[in-house]
Amino acid sequence: MVQVTREFVHHCLPVRKRDGHKGTFGKVHILAGSVGLTGAAALTAAAAVRTGSGLVSLSVPPEIWPVLAVKCQEAMPAPVARFEILLENMNQCNGVLIGPGLGRSRKTDVRTCHLVERLQTPLVLDADGINAVAEHIDVLDTRRGRLTVLTPHDGEFLRLRQGKAIGPDREAAALAFARQHGCVLVLKGHRTITAFPDGETFENTTGNPGMAKGGSGDVLAGMILSLLGQGIPPKKAVPSAVWLHGAAGDLAAASFGEYGMTPSDLLQNIPAAIQGAM
Ligand code: AMP
Ligand code: MG
Repeated sequence: MVQVTREFVHHCLPVRKRDGHKGTFGKVHILAGSVGLTGAAALTAAAAVRTGSGLVSLSVPPEIWPVLAVKCQEAMPAPVARFEILLENMNQCNGVLIGPGLGRSRKTDVRTCHLVERLQTPLVLDADGINAVAEHIDVLDTRRGRLTVLTPHDGEFLRLRQGKAIGPDREAAALAFARQHGCVLVLKGHRTITAFPDGETFENTTGNPGMAKGGSGDVLAGMILSLLGQGIPPKKAVPSAVWLHGAAGDLAAASFGEYGMTPSDLLQNIPAAIQGAM
């Protein structure tokens, strides 16, 4: 298992091209949020912006769109379009994220599964995006050949495993799933493990229990999306995003302590985490 350190990340983050423009640094699309979970959508979109994406589109349910229009300055929130238009818009992007704060309903789950089947772009699934596919696990197998990254915490991973206990060997469990379904599995927690379908695994070395608060995972999902959308190869982008997220958490803990730090403090510390690794 590769230990992901500052040194590792240093070799993964390219210097931004001097003559780069918005298009150079990736256009990404996020489907997130629901009534009661507006913060998840705002955090995940802001994380993608803070991690360097050129353009971040955010689709949210119409009833919460005015809230996101106020919360998001740099990302572009819009009421979610009807399916075919949403799919077309997403397919024009360099990466798509579905799930943070999305909520569960039959309609939402069905839409998520149809998108998973038909999206041609790299795809990150988090939270309710994971819960939706857990009930129709075969849709993951339809994406072989296209990059799919899943970012479950233990509860979501248990659902993906159809209730089968994870057991003490987290690396083996993550790897078995990645191999079986041809996807990248980020098993979050203390020392997050990232498993690739070819058998390679990565163990993260940053982060702290101050991050065990609602919203932290939404920040991570936006960061992973951002690095993938910038065209960084998956074996560099995914472990680096996990390391930077933990490093931002360690900086937040140094300022505010593990009790008082918040997921918004992670956002504020992403720039310093990146600068510290460059
Ligand atoms: P979520 O449960 O989706 O909000 O994700 C929580 C995030 O915080 C994940 O990225 C975890 O790896 C991180 N996290 C939670 N608890 C810890 C911990 N004790 N040590 C390090 N990271 C943690
Ligand atoms: Mg989460």
